[in-house]
Amino acid sequence: FVNNTEEFFVYCKENEVKFVDFRFTDMKGTWHHVTYMMSAVSASQLDNGMPFDGSSIDAWQPIHKSDMLLKPDVGTAFLDPFTADSTIIVFCDVYDIYKGEMYEKCPRSIAKKALTHLTESGVGDVAYFGPENEFFVFEDVKIIDKGNESYYRVDTEDGEWNDDATIEGGNMGHRARTKGGYFPVAPIDTGVDLRAEMMQVLEQVGLEVILGHHEVAQGQHELGIVFGDLLEAADNVQKLKYVIKMVAHLNGKSATFMPKPIYGDNGSGMHVHQSIWRDGKNLFYKQGEYGNLSEMARHYVGGVFKHARAVAAFTNPSTNSYKRLIPGFEAPSILTYSSQNRSASCRIPYGAGEKATRIEMRFPDSTSCPYLAFAAMLLAGLDGIKNKFEPIGPMDDDLYELELDEIRERGIPQMPHTLRGALEALVRDNEFLQPVFSKDMIDTYQHYKFETQVWPNEARPTPFEL
Ligand code: GLU
Ligand code: MG
Ligand code: MG
Repeated sequence: FVNNTEEFFVYCKENEVKFVDFRFTDMKGTWHHVTYMMSAVSASQLDNGMPFDGSSIDAWQPIHKSDMLLKPDVGTAFLDPFTADSTIIVFCDVYDIYKGEMYEKCPRSIAKKALTHLTESGVGDVAYFGPENEFFVFEDVKIIDKGNESYYRVDTEDGEWNDDATIEGGNMGHRARTKGGYFPVAPIDTGVDLRAEMMQVLEQVGLEVILGHHEVAQGQHELGIVFGDLLEAADNVQKLKYVIKMVAHLNGKSATFMPKPIYGDNGSGMHVHQSIWRDGKNLFYKQGEYGNLSEMARHYVGGVFKHARAVAAFTNPSTNSYKRLIPGFEAPSILTYSSQNRSASCRIPYGAGEKATRIEMRFPDSTSCPYLAFAAMLLAGLDGIKNKFEPIGPMDDDLYELELDEIRERGIPQMPHTLRGALEALVRDNEFLQPVFSKDMIDTYQHYKFETQVWPNEARPTPFEL
């Protein structure tokens, strides 16, 4: 790992690098790349940036203003573990040559601006983010011959999915049941070696891995990664998804971070642990308060909750996201906080000391672009600190037991129930984002999500309706 352009070239030489792969992230979180011959990459080019077609990325530039630049962050360089020839990957920011500044729709640039805003606000000098991206591993699609019919089937690695053909004649005693994946040993857990491979490759690309385990649903997994500052943590999500999907793929399987792939079993979240520090001190910690949480931390939660409906447009940005946010599956729907409680939108991990005290936002999922999701939560939280917003809570009971009537009577705020609801909230409530997100960016984003997610989904009858 390198610190500057000079070290970059030395490192490439030492590792006989043949290709440099420049990567950037679009507004929906997709990682894109363009590959250069090592011999074609010069120091001045790294400084000036690499040209690309900004009109071919969803909702970015119009065709008559398509030329954009990728500005590499050489400090992020790492060797690609999956290419046949030695290739180095470099994270890039997108630069707007017309305006001569960071591109307003580049999520990674927005994340950087959010960190600058944090220091300029005087609240803290670093915000730590610890995302937990749960995922499913499915067998690749197979064609099953069933009598005269041939049809496609996708099943979980751990067993059946509503398909008589897989159950017939088999002894299912060693298969995980619905919600039975947490966490019996093999042979019920069939993901041991796959996770081990993923964990080792993640370490190879520079992530610090703590643990891996089967999650509650059939074929669902989670790998525990060490937190980082906002930008580092978001970069790590891109690396993590790349490695997990590639290792699954090379093993003939498909990994998905889709929030709710299976009806009736747990979905996959991206819980995000968060804390703000100044001069090496955790500002979210105050011994003796509820959950050892400082007033600042409580107000941060208050801000995230106050704006949660709009924030959800970034943290839960797919129509499928809202199928996960229902009672009964360890995902939240009610905006309240609580120590230990996995049915609340914000959990405070119990008994953490001064350094580890943090809040865990449980509603986000991995369909979000991590840069935008983290920036949106940070800005909402900072607004809460500024305005001393108090969150509702703590509520320490099983919130899944709450009747809808009671939720209504007590006026307990809820997450939106659809992506449309979140986007409409974003249109009304976005001033808190404006220190960092331009109006044009917000407008483009919400239109884009309507066009690619909301309307196509609303137009389609579902199997349940049929
Ligand atoms: N899979 C659950 C979710 O949808 C979370 C389980 C856990 O607490 O790790 O958020
Ligand atoms: Mg989990
Ligand atoms: Mg968690």
